[in-house]
Amino acid sequence: MKRPSSSDQLRFLTGLQRILEEGSFVATYKFALLMALADFAIQAGQDEVDPEELDVFHLSENFISYYWRQALPYVTSRENDRKYLKMATGSQPVIFNQIVQLHALYHGSLPALRKNANDWHEIKALVADTIAKMPLWKLQVVGPDLVCVLYKQSRVGYQGRVLEFVPGALFNLRQHYDLVRGLVQGAWLRHVRRLNAASLGEIDLDEFLFGSERSTWPGLRQILRDVQGGSCLYCGRGVGDAGDIDHFIPWSRYPQDLGHNFVLAHATCNRSKSDLLASPAHLANWHKRNMVHGEHLSQRFSEKGILHDYLKTRHITNWAYAQAESVGAQLWYAKNDLRPIDPSWRGGWNG
Ligand SMILES: [Zn+2]
Repeated sequence: MKRPSSSDQLRFLTGLQRILEEGSFVATYKFALLMALADFAIQAGQDEVDPEELDVFHLSENFISYYWRQALPYVTSRENDRKYLKMATGSQPVIFNQIVQLHALYHGSLPALRKNANDWHEIKALVADTIAKMPLWKLQVVGPDLVCVLYKQSRVGYQGRVLEFVPGALFNLRQHYDLVRGLVQGAWLRHVRRLNAASLGEIDLDEFLFGSERSTWPGLRQILRDVQGGSCLYCGRGVGDAGDIDHFIPWSRYPQDLGHNFVLAHATCNRSKSDLLASPAHLANWHKRNMVHGEHLSQRFSEKGILHDYLKTRHITNWAYAQAESVGAQLWYAKNDLRPIDPSWRGGWNG
């Protein structure tokens, strides 16, 4: 694939900005679609072999995971009053209502829902159909204009669920992921704040909509303990019965959970690493853990309904380190030990 020129990339970003500023947003589907596409771009992850087409069914997992976090009641400004965020100007979106029900049925556990193959497939199919019917053909319509920076379309909507990417669209989403995410989540946040202005109270809306802490992962700690021999991935010392579950590639850089990205670590190591990427030695250890225990991990993640795909995870990892390298970021080696990234991260990892 030909890499988009700087002016093509700028056109992409200004197009996206127009979509977010001038497009009409009734429900929040368009934001979720944009984020699902951006997340997909990184999971697909290779400039040379990017797919030209995509069945939107493959976006439904990412799409659902955004709403799953938001389908909880929050405490409003009135005492003892809990309710769901309003997600549209009129009645609540169908997908949101459906996810609220599944949330209750599965006690808030997305892994538990995934383990029920029927219910999981049903909600994914509903989401895919809804994407095709609603936001897919409306997203790039800005007043009288079509701003086709992501996929090709005419004004007449979509037949079926397959979209055809504009050349370079996936590259642009990947290359400018942080910016795209900032723009989309910022617009999403402002939209939800406007819809719920009267009742928001003390809630940290950003954390409520996009944070990771409310995910529950029953059984995950034990899986990690087994494959790491009860040790912290970073310092190698035992963690005892405690230990944090850390995102190896920090949630702040890529907000989708995939099994292999979880590591067991001391709370102190985890806090010190914070939102940084880990050193090449840690990267090599983590990769080794995932290769040595590959089959075992896949099997147990599946048993627990934890989403996993090591190829996708590797694409995300390569992307995150390459981005860090392009801006000369600091890597975390240990507590109070940060060093600038150099090309050596590629060594213990891609070999
Ligand atoms: Zn440690």
